[in-house]
Amino acid sequence: MSLPEMERIEALLPQWVEESRQQCSYGKVASYIPELSKSPIGALGIHLINSKGYSVSAGDTKLSFTMQSISKVFTLILALMDNGEEAVFDKVGMEPTGDNFNSMLKLELVQPGIPFNPLINAGAIAISSLIAGKDPKEKSGRVLEFMRLLSNNQALDYDLDVYRSESATANLNRSMAYFLKDNGVLQGEVEDVLDVYFRHCSIRITCAELAQMALVLAHNGINPLTGEELIPRRYVQIAKTFMTTCGMYNASGEFAIQVGLPAKSGVSGGILTLVPGRYGIGLIGPSLNRKGNSIAGVALLETLSQEFDWSLF
Ligand code: GLU
Repeated sequence: MSLPEMERIEALLPQWVEESRQQCSYGKVASYIPELSKSPIGALGIHLINSKGYSVSAGDTKLSFTMQSISKVFTLILALMDNGEEAVFDKVGMEPTGDNFNSMLKLELVQPGIPFNPLINAGAIAISSLIAGKDPKEKSGRVLEFMRLLSNNQALDYDLDVYRSESATANLNRSMAYFLKDNGVLQGEVEDVLDVYFRHCSIRITCAELAQMALVLAHNGINPLTGEELIPRRYVQIAKTFMTTCGMYNASGEFAIQVGLPAKSGVSGGILTLVPGRYGIGLIGPSLNRKGNSIAGVALLETLSQEFDWSLF
């Protein structure tokens, strides 16, 4: 009789991590946010947690890193909880772009001023302006509290070095934000909205905490360990759909074919993914491929998904 899946994962994961780690030398760490260029290029770590709270991890899981674009999944959910679907989709679209995450190209070409989706930078900046709160401090505080609740870690906080490093160099994001403001997509002052955005991108997290957040999405908004509903099911459905169609930048189609799971990556090399109803998964591998996804992380997820037949498609 074959071993239960979790035991097989536990037995095989260390070897798969070491095999996938070989890929790190073919990628690069992000450097356009200067502080991120200090990330360890050869690192790879993964943490899985199941519905009963049983976890398995392998590799460099002690490493903490900034959420970057992974945070966009949760600011989208919070904006939906604050404003409802209609108000959110008045300001952002629902379609993948096929362009880079920081591209401005289609902002002007198609629907004037409305970003294609909430996971590209322009869309996530628009979403930051929809978070409820009387000022940027209160908005950012609400986002941080939401991340703390979902990750089950009240100590989660910003990496202020990364925050300052991004804020000081974000000319492209700034230009996009001004463009959005001019088109009536952004509410409030541009710098205030950007501050909320840079702060949520700079929240420092570990693989175990990402896995815990993913576990809530894997259970349609319910924390299976406590039975508490943290997110309405409909908003998890929306978030998971965007993760599937746009979560891995313009390699989302390839990832859907090779791995077949909803996922979101960030330029720090983090990936949050999940197996619906079963596992939350958090991963870090700062060496990125040409599309901006963790090169070793994607290889490891391909191995896991293909070995255990996790693809949803
Ligand atoms: N803070 C990053 C930026 O705006 C996030 C990008 C990402 O992780 O994709 O450039």
